[in-house]
Order: sequence, then structure tokens, then C-alpha cells
Amino acid sequence: MVRLLGPAEIRDLAARLGIRPTKTLGQNFMHDANTVRRIVREARLSATDVVLEVGPGLGSLTLALLAEAAHVHAVEIDPVLAAALPATVATHAPERADRLTVHRQDALHLTAEQVTPPPTALVANLPYNVAVPVVLHLLAELPGLTRGLVLVQLEVAQRLTAPPGSTVYGAPTAKLAWYAEARLVGRVPPTVFWPVPRVESGLVAFHRRPAPVTDVDRAEVFAVIDAAFAQRRKTLRSALAAWAGSPVAAEAVLTRAGVDPTARGEQMDIATFARIARAGRDRGGPAGIVTA
Ligand code: SAM
Repeated sequence: MVRLLGPAEIRDLAARLGIRPTKTLGQNFMHDANTVRRIVREARLSATDVVLEVGPGLGSLTLALLAEAAHVHAVEIDPVLAAALPATVATHAPERADRLTVHRQDALHLTAEQVTPPPTALVANLPYNVAVPVVLHLLAELPGLTRGLVLVQLEVAQRLTAPPGSTVYGAPTAKLAWYAEARLVGRVPPTVFWPVPRVESGLVAFHRRPAPVTDVDRAEVFAVIDAAFAQRRKTLRSALAAWAGSPVAAEAVLTRAGVDPTARGEQMDIATFARIARAGRDRGGPAGIVTA
């Protein structure tokens, strides 16, 4: 039997540990068991899944994940929270305690060697200030991570799942699309957290898919994406000028890639960014002289 944490337990636990939630670490703890159950349901875990949870905090979601998965890796940067988690699990889910590994660590520096067995699913109420870099880092670092369900600030959820052409489509959208297909599966109100955040949250589900077929590597494609969105609302000819060497060189690369130089970054899907990167391999030097 797994007993989930309610509002009183969250406050008691925090008081006992002397936790004063900090904004810097994005500490908003879930105290609503229905929301926790909803997240786990949407994650569609199987009994063989190895879950990676970033930021277990006081353990609200961890307990529910332990009820479903074969193993849970909980990566927590706060030393007090990381140290307290095994005792919480021993109290609330004693027969599942051996399925938990706690990593006291910054998720942005987690490496594949540190997590055995290898995670298959990321399920987390992410620290909002590092949500996007954490998801991108983990998808790059852990090839066995085939899917995920993450709770992030609603604005970020909408950006991550926006289609090309949308006003909120940006560099994070295009980069996530390199790895995975993502969709917004629901909203979560601020009232389910303690302390209550000022913003609404959104649940993003993602499934890994093959990267676009290209002979340029991810870093080259991401460099084009960064350049395209560094100056929003600029035409690609102008936004990619520094990357290509000059506006003339940028125009030549875009034309070679079959892209209208007056189009904007937010109109491009990930396959098109890959094509631009490929065409840019032969781009000219600083004077914009195209050599190939
Ligand atoms: N999962 C818990 C819940 O739903 O109640 C807590 C979620 S809270 C939004 C985010 C958690 O991530 C906090 O426990 C915080 O200490 C932790 N955290 C913040 N930055 C982190 C990082 N870079 N790596 C790992 N954990 C981090």
C-alpha cells in the first residue's frame, strides 16, 4: 500500500525538515493527491518502466510513481530534501522502498553512467526555472528515455508544444522536436501547490522519435536554431547573417536549402532547420563569398 501525501502532511514534513521553499530552486510542492494520481495516469507507465523523476521534493509524486514503476531514480539538488526522501518512502510505501534510488545532484549534470537501470520515462513536476534545459539535457544524455510527462509553467508548456507558425513557437520548440513529438495534455491550477505559485501550470507529454535524417550533427542544427531565434521577428536572411558570414551568404544558404530568405524562424519545422544547417556547411567566410 502506498499512502500519498496531503496538505497537512506536506506542511508537517516541511516544518520538521526546516524547509522554507525557495524560488531559486522552483520549490512548489504538490499537496493534492488527485493531481498526483492524474499525472501518473497520464504518464501511462507499465510495470517494467524505470522512471526518472527530477526534483522529488518532499516525495508527493515519488510515492505514486513507486506504486506503478519497476524503479524510480529521484534526482534532487536540495541536500535536505534528498536526505529525507528515503525515510518518507519507508513510512508511506515500505514495501516499495527498494525500488527507489535517490541522487543528490543537479539534473543538468546527470550522466547516463549515474543511472542504473537506465530510465525509460521522465515523469516530473519540474523546477520551472530550469525545465527546458533539463528536458533537453536528459533527452540528449539518456537514449533509453523514450517518453515523458512533465509539469511545467503553462507558458512553457504552450511554447514546447506549439506548431510551426504559432507566435509562441521558439528555439525550445524546435529543439524538443529534434528528439520527440510533444503535446499539451492538460492544465493544472496553482492551488494544488504549496506555496501557491503565481502562474498556471501545464502537462506536456512527449514521445521520442527518430531525429531528422541528415548528415549534419545536432550541434550544427541547434546553432542554426539559436541564430534564427536570437533576434525574433527578423527575416531568416537577417537573423542568420552573423552565422553565415553576411546577409548575402545567409541568403545563398537559404536558397540552397529551398527556404524563402524573407521567411522567419518561427515558420520552420525541425526538418527545415536541419536542411539549412546542411546547406550552411558550404557557406562562405566573413565576406559572404560562397565557395561551393
Ligand atoms: N516533485 C515535488 C512535488 O511535486 O511536490 C517537488 C517539485 S518542485 C516544483 C521542484 C523540485 O526540484 C524541488 O524539490 C527542487 O529542490 C528541485 N530542483 C530544483 N532545481 C533542481 C535541479 N537543477 N536538479 C534537481 N532538482 C532540482
